Amino acid sequence: MNFAVLDSLYKEVILEHQKDPRNFGHLDNPDFQKEGFNPLCGDRVTIDLKLDETKEKVSQCRFHGEGCSICMASASMMAEEIEGLQVVDIKKLIQDFRDLMQGKKSPEELEGDIVALSGVKNFPVRIKCALLSWVTLKDALEHSDGTTRTE
Ligand code: ZN
Repeated sequence: MNFAVLDSLYKEVILEHQKDPRNFGHLDNPDFQKEGFNPLCGDRVTIDLKLDETKEKVSQCRFHGEGCSICMASASMMAEEIEGLQVVDIKKLIQDFRDLMQGKKSPEELEGDIVALSGVKNFPVRIKCALLSWVTLKDALEHSDGTTRTE
């Protein structure tokens, strides 16, 4: 597979998530709710999480908000990916995704639709768009107060 094909495949995955976001919406009585804001682009995302009875696993994740296509696609991929995962594995995934955005990890080292965002690392102003939902999720899991800002 050549790189041009790979690029267009990636673009398709991103557009598909943007058009038909997974897990978009609200949860009743979420265990955690966190709002994130990226002043650079104006992206706003709120993440609702529900844990299972062990309190160590995310049973449901929903997001809502408004943002650019990269931000919305990334939030959609994240929300879909983390449902049913242990909190400890989610924290690792957040770090892996950051590393991907910072070029410290190659796409081959990650799995799932989020790999489609690997090209964003070549556009520094958009990295915060892709990371917004992930840093907001991290803050939600760490019970930090207030709005998460990507500054
Ligand atoms: Zn954005």
